Amino acid sequence: MEFTTLASSSSGNCIYVCGGNTRILIDAGCSAAYLKRSLASIDVSLETITALLITHEHCDHINGAAKINKQYGIPIFASRLTWDNLPFNAEIPECQRHIFAYDMTIGELSFDFFKLFHDAVQPVGMIISHNNSKLGIVTDTGKVSDSMLQLLIGADGLIFEANYDQNMLENGDYPYFLKQRIKSLSGHLSNQQAAEAIAAIVSDRTKEVLLAHLSRSNNTPHAAITAVEQRLRQAVGCNNLTVSVAPAKQPHRLLQI
Ligand SMILES: [Zn+2]
Ligand SMILES: [Zn+2]
Repeated sequence: MEFTTLASSSSGNCIYVCGGNTRILIDAGCSAAYLKRSLASIDVSLETITALLITHEHCDHINGAAKINKQYGIPIFASRLTWDNLPFNAEIPECQRHIFAYDMTIGELSFDFFKLFHDAVQPVGMIISHNNSKLGIVTDTGKVSDSMLQLLIGADGLIFEANYDQNMLENGDYPYFLKQRIKSLSGHLSNQQAAEAIAAIVSDRTKEVLLAHLSRSNNTPHAAITAVEQRLRQAVGCNNLTVSVAPAKQPHRLLQI
């Protein structure tokens, strides 16, 4: 399986995953033109994308979704309540609207979904499997539950939110209500929370951890990677592991698991 982020921040998110001949996008919070260009930079044509999956209805995850459906006929998958809250719901042809299901497969990829803790109607994280490889995707959540950890243990790759550095958020310019929202149990994960969760998930199988959805005001790639690497030094079974950071507005290199 190959994966990367094409964009990753509160200004726009998109993840690319490929297993065998099946290529999908998760979230499309950037323009169709940006997605086409950034996929081309990793030698993938937007025309060959099999499906778009939407994790939740926030703008930074859906801005380009209706357009890529209209221009390229890419079917869209989302949870039932998320569909009810998508502003472009009525524009998508019936045959291209799909609801996340238990034991769902798309082409050669299989999916397990789990609930996230975030201020959206029905936000989901997921585990994508292809042959014997498992990729866990967790962004936009205010906490990581034990049941999430249990599902994610054994993942070969992770895309995991490290949204803010605690000190930068607390001492930064954001208004009080926004700081409270970000820190809440339905907001985002700090570097430290991400580090704790990642340390509980990784095993000898884990090859790639890509830190994602970093705040551009309240975090730096250096702060995120340092927090996670420091915590992982005390964890067992992560000798083969690379930690990297998803850039906000350019594709990360393709990772393989
Ligand atoms: Zn987001
Ligand atoms: Zn969100």
